[in-house]
Formats: sequence, C-alpha cells, structure tokens
Amino acid sequence: MQELQFTDISIDSIKNQLTLQKRLHLAILRLDKIHPVVSGNKWFKLQYYLRDAKKQGYQTLLTFGGAYSNHIAATAYAAKAHGFNAIGVIRGEQPQQWSHTLQEASTQGMQLTFLPRNEFAQIKRNASAKWIEQRFGKVYAIPEGGYGKLGKYGAANILRIADTSIYTHFVSAVGTGTTVAGILQASSANQHVSGISVMKNNFGLADEIQKLSDSPVPPEFRLIHDYHFGGYARYNTELLDFMNSFYRTTHIPLDFVYTAKMMFGVFDLIRNDYFPPGSVILAIHTGGLQGNESLPTGKLLF
Ligand SMILES: *Cc1c(COP(=O)(O)O)cnc(C)c1O
Repeated sequence: MQELQFTDISIDSIKNQLTLQKRLHLAILRLDKIHPVVSGNKWFKLQYYLRDAKKQGYQTLLTFGGAYSNHIAATAYAAKAHGFNAIGVIRGEQPQQWSHTLQEASTQGMQLTFLPRNEFAQIKRNASAKWIEQRFGKVYAIPEGGYGKLGKYGAANILRIADTSIYTHFVSAVGTGTTVAGILQASSANQHVSGISVMKNNFGLADEIQKLSDSPVPPEFRLIHDYHFGGYARYNTELLDFMNSFYRTTHIPLDFVYTAKMMFGVFDLIRNDYFPPGSVILAIHTGGLQGNESLPTGKLLF
C-alpha cells in the first residue's frame, strides 16, 4: 500500500518504577502509527490476500465483520487504495444509526450488506463460497478478521520490519489468533511468545493457532485468558482509567478492545513475576484506534 508510511513505525521504550524494580526492559512496537485506520496488524494480515486477489484477476473483495470491526475499516481503505471494489458483510440487522466504523467504510466506497446473526454465523461456517457467488458473483472473499494462513504469513512480517532479535519475549493481543501465529512463525527458538485473549473463555484458540501454524507450536507459547474484562469489546472504569494513565505517562494511545487489555495484562504479568529478571519484552501495539470512536465522548484523554 504505497501511501502508507512504514518509516513512521517506532519502538518506544517504556520505563517506570515497576520495570526498574523487576529489572527488565519493556518496549512497545507502534504499529498504530502506520495509518489511522489501516493500522497495525490488519495492514499486515491483508497484504497477501490483496496480492493473491490481484494475481487471480479479481476486481472485488468481500469480507465479514461486526459493526465496529477494525478489519472492515481496514479492508475498505486497503481495497480503495489498491483499486478494488469492496463488499462488507456485516453481522446483525442494519442498525438505525450506523457506527463510526460503518460510516467510514461506506465513505471509502465499501458496499455494506447486513445479515442476521444466525445467518451470518452459518454462512461463515458452511459453504459460504457458494452463497457468496450466488449473491455477489465473482468476488475474492477474505475471512473475517483476516483469519487464515495468508493472514498469518502477512503477520509474520511484523517481526521483520525492525531488528527484533534482541527481544526475549513478545506479547500480543489475540482475537482470531492469526497475528500471534505469525509472530510465532517469525520468532526464533529462544524467544517466548505470549498472547492475551480479548474474548472470554475462548479456549478453542490454542487449536486454531496450531491449525494456522506450519510446525508444532512451541511448548513455551502461552495464551492468557485473564484480561478479557468481561468479554469481547467489554470494558469497565478500571480499563478506561488504565488507558488514560498510560496515555498520561507515555503519550501512547491504546484501544479498549485489544491493546489496552494487552498492555494492562503486560503490567499485571510483570507485577506477578511472569517474566524473569533481565527479560527484554516487546509488546506489540496492533493498532485499532478507530474502535475508540464507539466509546461515549469524554471517556478518554485522547
Ligand atoms: C484484529 C485485532 C487484533 C487481533 O488479531 P488476530 O489476528 O485476529 O488475533 C489485535 N489487535 C487489534 C488492534 C486488532 O484490530
């Protein structure tokens, strides 16, 4: 995606009493700086899908997501930037008031189709290819969230944009598991990967991540289910307070669906001696800041 600025990505060091006391290094990989909407891991996950669609001569991309989906927003932008038409199949009945995400996607030229939840789930699960073709003709379908092996190969490139060999630990938020599967693929044997699940009790994730991986997932890989704050896109005052205080001290904005839960988890894990002294931790800011637009105004400092 030519107009996106790779050079803006930075790795910011985070030093505070806790990291000093526990004698470890913490840094954050700012994928949120790539672009305000096509930010973070979604940009990486889309790369090989876009390339594949182009190679196969498709003119239209179709994908799935909820009304607040970062993936829908990112696909709408990426499709436009690459000269594709785009169709977004949105979970649930058409709302009276479109979310910020849907308005943005539509402004980018994405055509939106709303599907009742049960139908949406079925189409994703079953022979969706047939349904898609009957309804929309010849379109290139990208799985919800950019899930899949092509998404994973794209996510593996996250660790290749800078020298990441100095890190002993990588931490990322986990939705579908595609990103963390890519990070596992690109990390080396002496680097530990931890994923913080943003869904409640999504214990099928470990199998999903193994399915996405070309080789056995190393036994040191940890999926952590303790920081979902009630479930997907749920939040409470403690999480919002954390986002504000993190912003106050670092000037780094987080999103309430993914990266705030990840960062909250990182600090809590540090407090609980999850990382041995001397660890060099890279937390991956996977972007997704557009999701904060769905919070009531005035909740966040940024
Ligand atoms: C989609 C998303 C994730 C989750 O990525 P998966 O590959 O689905 O696990 C994490 N962080 C942000 C900001 C996202 O938008």
